Amino acid sequence: MTTKLLPKLLAKSLQTTIVHTDYTAPGGFAAYPPAIHHASTVLFENVAAMRSGQWKDKTAYTYGLHGTPTTFTLEARLAEIEGGSHCLLAPSGLAAIAMVDFALLKTGDDVLLPDNVYNPNRELGRWLTNDFGITARYYDPLIGAGIADLIQPNTRLIWTEAPGSVSMEVPDLPAICAAAHARGVLVALDNTWSAGLALRGFELGVDIVMHALTKYQSGGSDVLMGALITRDRAVHDRLAMAHMRLGMGVSADDAYLVMRGLPTMKLRFEAHDAAARKVAAWLKSRPEITTVLHPAFEDCPGHAIWRRDFTGAGGLFSVIFDERYTEEQTDRFVDSLTLFGLGYSWGGANSLVMPYRMTAIRRNWQGRGVLVRFNIGLEEPDDLIADMAQALDRLN
Ligand SMILES: *Cc1c(COP(=O)(O)O)cnc(C)c1O
Repeated sequence: MTTKLLPKLLAKSLQTTIVHTDYTAPGGFAAYPPAIHHASTVLFENVAAMRSGQWKDKTAYTYGLHGTPTTFTLEARLAEIEGGSHCLLAPSGLAAIAMVDFALLKTGDDVLLPDNVYNPNRELGRWLTNDFGITARYYDPLIGAGIADLIQPNTRLIWTEAPGSVSMEVPDLPAICAAAHARGVLVALDNTWSAGLALRGFELGVDIVMHALTKYQSGGSDVLMGALITRDRAVHDRLAMAHMRLGMGVSADDAYLVMRGLPTMKLRFEAHDAAARKVAAWLKSRPEITTVLHPAFEDCPGHAIWRRDFTGAGGLFSVIFDERYTEEQTDRFVDSLTLFGLGYSWGGANSLVMPYRMTAIRRNWQGRGVLVRFNIGLEEPDDLIADMAQALDRLN
């Protein structure tokens, strides 16, 4: 697109010269980093181009909110990595989740969510139920083909998360997708845990893959962004309408930060995986810990499905302390860690820890011991283990 930006003025006042330049940088510049295009206003070549420009199929630029070369490039790269055809960016992972719900659900519809769903997605379900006349119902994440019994004539969407948040159960995606598709229901997968690297959602049958790019794609603990990837054009178009109507723009600088993280994502992911398995195996050997909720460990519900469907694991897992330890004691363990930050979100270089009160976020939580979640960063795993050992000594 060659845009005639600057009509040559015969005479310009100083103020107009300050606003308009006659300079155009020479073309032919090439470098690996993508260009960062900042724009609210996008300039059209002429009125005809303005009238015919289509934002929806990304053949033209119409407004900063609807895409720039920077955001189109990130979307194309993410679709390519996931094995999808289309991608839309959102200002956070949660915004991407909300975009799916607003695109696909209307009053009278029903949506199914796993009981271990990312908790803000559960909160969104509560809002849909209370204020929008949509029913959000929760299913056992290990339900598999049994989900068929929950599908109603008004069910439009099934959310899946592999593994689910905090308690880490691994769902049987092919079984859920088969039951859903037999009834014309779409399946969305929150694929954040393995960044689309160790679990190939489209190959298992899901219709929409969602990512919190905030995590491994960025890797820097410095940006919030989400993505929705699809193969089906009609599904993408519905999401794109919601994207436009809700004004889901992302900043060019943030899109750049995510693209800066992408080339090292797989190497970082593999390092997180190896370190997390080493730390988890050490925790498994400790008498203070009864259960290691890491999908690569037999303790984890759905471990056999992880072995069947995944090619690796993320750096995020949980453990359950022996029930003889009170929350006061396990809080002392968490506060005694020196290399683990206490904070939400994950996927960056720094290890993190977070204790959870499971009865507040699950319907029928049976575990009696305290659950603590770890994000294993890129530190030397032996140093993390030594830190955990000294913190476990403070339990008593
Ligand atoms: C972090 C996360 C999200 C939300 O991402 P944000 O960018 O923080 O909104 C969604 N799903 C899962 C599984 C997550 O871990």
